[in-house]
Amino acid sequence: MNLILLGPPGAGKGTQSVVLSKKYNIPHISTGDILRESVKAGLPLGLEAKAFMDKGELVPDEIVTGIVVERLKKTDTKKGYILDGFPRTLQQAVDLDEALKKESGRIDMVLYFETSPKVAIERLSGRRVCKKCGFNYHVKNIPPKKEGVCDKCGGVLFQRPDDKEETVLNRLKVYEGQTKPLIEYYTKKGLLKKVSGDMMVEDLFNVISKIFSDMKLA
Ligand code: ADP
Ligand code: ADP
Ligand code: ZN
Repeated sequence: MNLILLGPPGAGKGTQSVVLSKKYNIPHISTGDILRESVKAGLPLGLEAKAFMDKGELVPDEIVTGIVVERLKKTDTKKGYILDGFPRTLQQAVDLDEALKKESGRIDMVLYFETSPKVAIERLSGRRVCKKCGFNYHVKNIPPKKEGVCDKCGGVLFQRPDDKEETVLNRLKVYEGQTKPLIEYYTKKGLLKKVSGDMMVEDLFNVISKIFSDMKLA
C-alpha cells in the first residue's frame, strides 16, 4: 500500500503515520523528519534547508524530491510506504509521478486530512516533541503523564522553533498557496480520499483502517 498523506501542517498526519506504519508494517517517510535530521547532523543539505524551514518556507523542490526518490529505492518500501508531507507542490507531485513511472511504481491513495486553520494553529502551538525519540505530544490534547517528559523514553520535550506563532501563520499561508492545488491534482487522478483531521486520534485511525479494508488495500 503506497500512500500519501496530504493536509495542512498540524492536521495530524505525523501522528497517524506513526500508528499506521506500525499496524501495516510499512515505513513512515516524513520529509520534515529527514530534513530535521540533516540539520542536526550538520550536513550541507541540512544547512541549506534550515534557512527555509526557520522561516516556514518550503525547501526547494529539487532538494526534497531528490531525498524522497533516493529513500524510495530502499528495499523496505517494497511492501508499501507512507509519504507524510510530500509532495507539497505541484512540481513535486509531477516529479514524483515521473520517478515512479520509471520504476513501474504507483500511488494507491492520497488521504487528505481536512481541517480548519483554527484547529491547525491550536495544534501547532501546543505541539511538543521528544528530543530523543521524536514522539509528538500536545500540551492539551495529548499531554505526557509528566509535564515536559516523554512517556515512551524519558526524553525531554521541546517546542519546534517553527511552531512559534509567526512562523505557523506563514506555514499556513504557504500551504494555502502552494500545497492546496494538490487536492485538485489528485482528485482528477481519482486517488483522493477525504477524512476529517478534527477527529480524535483513535477515531480517525479506525476510520482510515476501515477505508483501507473497504478498498482492499490492506
Ligand atoms: P508540518 O507537517 O508540521 O508542516 P513538517 O515536519 O512536515 O511539518 O515540515 C517542516 C518543514 O520542512 C516545512 O515547513 C518545510 O520548510 C520543510 N519541508 C518538509 N517537507 C517539505 C516538502 N515536501 N517540500 C518542501 N519543504 C518541505
Ligand atoms: P502534522 O504532521 O500534520 O503536522 P502532527 O501529527 O504533528 O501534525 O500533529 C500536530 C499536533 O496535534 C501535535 O501536537 C499532535 O500531538 C496533535 N494531534 C495530532 N492528531 C490529533 C488529533 N486527532 N486530535 C488532537 N490533537 C492531535
Ligand atoms: Zn521519547
